Amino acid sequence: MPALSRSACVALDASDPIRHLRDEFALPEGIVYLDGNSLGARPRAAAARAAQVVEVEWGRGLIRSWNDAGWWELSVRLGDKLAPLIGAGPGEVVVTDNISVNLYKLLSVALAVQAERDPARRVVVSERRNFPTDLYIVEGLLRQLGGGYALRLVDSPDEIAEAVGADTAVLLLTQVNYRTGELLDMPSLTALAHERGALAIWDLAHSAGAVPVDVRGADADFALGCTYKFLNAGPGAPAFAWVPARFQDRPQPLSGWWGHAAPFAMEPAFRGAPGIRRFLTGTQPIVSLALVECGLDPFLRTDMATLRAKSLALTDLFIQLVEERCAGHPLTLVTPREHARRGSQVSLEHPEGYAVMRALVERGVIGDYREPRILRFGFTPLYLGFADTWDAVEALRDVLEARAWDAPRFRERAAVT
Ligand SMILES: *Cc1c(COP(=O)(O)O)cnc(C)c1O
Repeated sequence: MPALSRSACVALDASDPIRHLRDEFALPEGIVYLDGNSLGARPRAAAARAAQVVEVEWGRGLIRSWNDAGWWELSVRLGDKLAPLIGAGPGEVVVTDNISVNLYKLLSVALAVQAERDPARRVVVSERRNFPTDLYIVEGLLRQLGGGYALRLVDSPDEIAEAVGADTAVLLLTQVNYRTGELLDMPSLTALAHERGALAIWDLAHSAGAVPVDVRGADADFALGCTYKFLNAGPGAPAFAWVPARFQDRPQPLSGWWGHAAPFAMEPAFRGAPGIRRFLTGTQPIVSLALVECGLDPFLRTDMATLRAKSLALTDLFIQLVEERCAGHPLTLVTPREHARRGSQVSLEHPEGYAVMRALVERGVIGDYREPRILRFGFTPLYLGFADTWDAVEALRDVLEARAWDAPRFRERAAVT
């Protein structure tokens, strides 16, 4: 790519076929939002939808809304709406709980399947750099199971092939790493797991709505992810779980009344509902759940191939501009350059990463910080443009040139970084 100017970026925005979609999001003036990989921006429709749920459905409908406003079916209906974004079929996805709780359910089922097939398979293989809650949940579940279950962590994706063997029950991977933005090859790693007799569970937290995903095409066994990152469903919005038909009749351990075949029969014994409903546990957070729809709707007006092309163009531009305009500063690119290995974010390492990010945020360029020393910039092509990317790099350049980060107030750690 040739050296660029801001006006060239403005021209790229003018010819962007999905430029208009940014109007569906309410972003404050003067902000470049590069943290949609942590908390997506607010769809404009969310405010009216929240008011409708609270004032009309709850306020006037009261308890009748479980039937009349579709509350009872919402988790499953939204699962069907989300399914195409990850290559899943109808009746295979449910929107509920969070990743941590859903992982507990899915991993329990996977381990039970394996215990029947071959009780010697008691190892879960994952990456040490995986998002910690995934590892914590595995630890907790394996502790509960006892009896020789173990977690085996590899230090790099190159070591996965070596680590999956005759003792392996499950390969648990996150497709796009939260810290580095590295994208793993889901079809080939799933095939590797299957060749060795293991099941593959994929965490799509940083891939659903960010990169094209095809869980069926990859022949994955289970998948899960959240809706509050690239799917823009709002803070604490429920997560999703994908369970293909071949595993849906299995008991899952959090067998609450919402997963019962006849919840209002109020039977003393559990009988699992047929289909994906069985993966529900208890009462759903309807206000929050309803807003997931506002996050999913903009995706109906484009497709993942278009979003991916723009995402790669934005991250390529960002990398090029950082290298051209911030040369001489100690920034190291952490995210892979190859498109096939890059998610929808760019991570840069800087020795004063935390303070640099605080100073950037003060200037209205909002990214975030992850240990150690990593500046993390998420690119959401639904609402981010090329001129925004230019402006973000200029702000970074200013902060570095003026050493604006070198102030005591930028060193105090907030609870959320
Ligand atoms: C964000 C994220 C989570 C979050 O888990 P919750 O239980 O939904 O809070 C889990 N795993 C990965 C890989 C993530 O990026």
